[in-house]
Parts: sequence; C-alpha cells; structure tokens
Amino acid sequence: MKLPPFEVHRPSSLHDASRLLRDLGGDAVPINGGTELLLAMKLGLAQYEHLVDLKRVSELRGVRRADSVVSFGAGMTHRELEGSPVIAEALAEVPRMLAEVANVRVRSVGTIGGNLCFADPHSDPATFLSAAEATLVLGDGSTSRRVPVDQFFLGAYETVLEPGELLVEVTVPAVPLGTGTAHVRMKVHERPAVTVAAKVTVERDTVVRARLAVGSVCGAPVLAEAIDKLIGASRDTWSERVREVAAMSAAGITPVADAEGSSRYKQALVEVFVRRALDAALADASGVTR
Ligand SMILES: Cc1cc2nc3c(=O)[nH]c(=O)nc-3n(C[C@H](O)[C@H](O)[C@H](O)COP(=O)(O)OP(=O)(O)OC[C@H]3O[C@@H](n4cnc5c(N)ncnc54)[C@H](O)[C@@H]3O)c2cc1C
Repeated sequence: MKLPPFEVHRPSSLHDASRLLRDLGGDAVPINGGTELLLAMKLGLAQYEHLVDLKRVSELRGVRRADSVVSFGAGMTHRELEGSPVIAEALAEVPRMLAEVANVRVRSVGTIGGNLCFADPHSDPATFLSAAEATLVLGDGSTSRRVPVDQFFLGAYETVLEPGELLVEVTVPAVPLGTGTAHVRMKVHERPAVTVAAKVTVERDTVVRARLAVGSVCGAPVLAEAIDKLIGASRDTWSERVREVAAMSAAGITPVADAEGSSRYKQALVEVFVRRALDAALADASGVTR
C-alpha cells in the first residue's frame, strides 16, 4: 500500500482553511489525524492532490462548559476528550464510550471531527451523540450554522457538509440529576457491529423523557420511535416496557448486511442491546453506580 503524491497545506485559522478548500476545489480535502483518510488513500479508495491539515486551526480545539452545555472542538482527539475533567463531570458516559473506540494508537491521533465527518456507519460517537441530543456547529470562519447530530448524516459516508465548510464544534447538554445515559456496543472485527445509546429522565419513579439511538447497523444512526412506549412507565413496569421497546425497535429497523453480520443477525443484536442500554440508563437515572 503506497500513498499517491500530494501537497500538504497548514492553515492556522478556520477562515484560511475554508478558503483554501474552496479555492483548491475537488482536488483538496481536510485532514486531521488522518486515520481514516490516509488509509482510504492508501487503498486507492480516494485520491486528492491537496491535503488541508486542520491541526493548527485553533477554533477546532478546546473543551468548554457554559451553564448546562458542554462544547468541544472538532479537532480534539478521542484521548484528549477521554481525559477531560470537564467532560467527566458533566457527561460521565462520554469517557467510557470513547475508551472503547478503536485502540489507543487510533484514539491518540484520531479526532471526534474526523470520526463524525467520515460518516463511517460503524461509529460509537455518532450513536451516542444522537441519543445525547448533541448539536454540531458547522462553519467556514465567516458564517456558521447549527445542525442536530441526527440530521448531519445523509447515509453511509455522506453528510450535510457543503464544500469548504468544516465541523467546528460539538455541543452536548450536560446530564442533569435524575437523567441517566448509557452506551453499549459489540464488535466482531475492528469496528462495532452494533451500538445503542439511551438517555432517560426519571421523576418520582416515573420515566418522563427518553431517547434511544441505534447505530452501526444501518447507513447512519436511527432514533427509535418505539422509545415513546417507555414514557409514563413507573418503576414496577420498567422491565416489561423495556422488553417491549427492544422488540419493537428491532422489528422497526432494516439493518444493512455487511462484514459484521447478516440483516437478521443484526436485528437480533439490536433487541438485546436496546434492552441492555435501557436497563443501564434507567439504573444510572436512579443513581445506581456502575
Ligand atoms: C483500526 C481502526 C479501528 C476503529 N475503530 C472504531 C470504533 O471502534 N468505533 C468508532 O467509532 N470508530 C472507530 N474507528 C474510527 C476512528 O474513530 C476514526 O478513524 C478517527 O476518529 C478519525 O479521525 P481523524 O482525525 O484521524 O480523521 P481523518 O482521517 O483526518 O479525517 C476523516 C474524514 O473527516 C474529514 N474531516 C476531518 N476533520 C474534519 C472537520 N473538522 N470538518 C470537516 N471534515 C473533517 C476528512 O476530510 C476525512 O474525510 C476506527 C478506526 C481505525 C483506523
């Protein structure tokens, strides 16, 4: 596997990176850690004459908390986010979720932005952030727009990003007391075969809000509508309702068969992993420590 020749550009601002990408047109592509892009180029699946390296773009860096929202730059590596005390305090499931991504070598250079923008269907963060009601800030240094993460993906390897537009920041509501989150997954090979994430809010032993994302089995994460069945459930009916939601979520999805398994196998995985995710999120909402 040999890389074809290319020129690397190293802009230091978002504005300059976007301008370069627009000026160079279809021959140019942004790159951060390169763990996806360079592999695709080595395999001959993609070819670009110009790589616009985003590592010096300061707008893509940092983790901040303002009131009840946590924001992190798209250029942050998985490892940096995993080790952030701000994230650990406000979004305890995020470090646990990121610790399962790939291996430590990939997590040390691979970024959250690269993961989301590559839009590989087998993504842990895409599934988790869909359940967590995250919003993505896209921009070019002059204008910006906010897109809910579940509307960012158009399908496998396709996003709503326009030419020259970059993913700048990810914003996630902090998890308040009484709300539980969980991310569960299984892998057979390198990437997950199934990822399921849940977020539930419990008030006086009753589920008042719930959100469920199923990922890695279709082109992009899917928000399961069956989760509405859990709303209004009191503690004594949780387990029965969770089983119903799991069966309905599996029945309502048509997984894509691929190297990770057949469509029917993945449907069976979805039922099991929805159950696990909801049980774990309900335990988290009730203050049961893991
Ligand atoms: C061996 C291996 C195992 C893996 N296992 C998992 C796993 O278990 N779970 C999982 O979720 N992921 C997994 N991944 C994916 C991993 O998370 C990504 O490779 C990594 O996050 C990509 O980040 P990067 O910075 O290297 O992206 P790059 O390769 O630099 O870029 C990827 C794509 O995103 C674009 N891009 C990058 N940054 C931006 C931006 N800010 N705005 C617009 N476009 C941008 C690039 O143009 C390119 O198309 C695995 C990858 C490998 C190689």
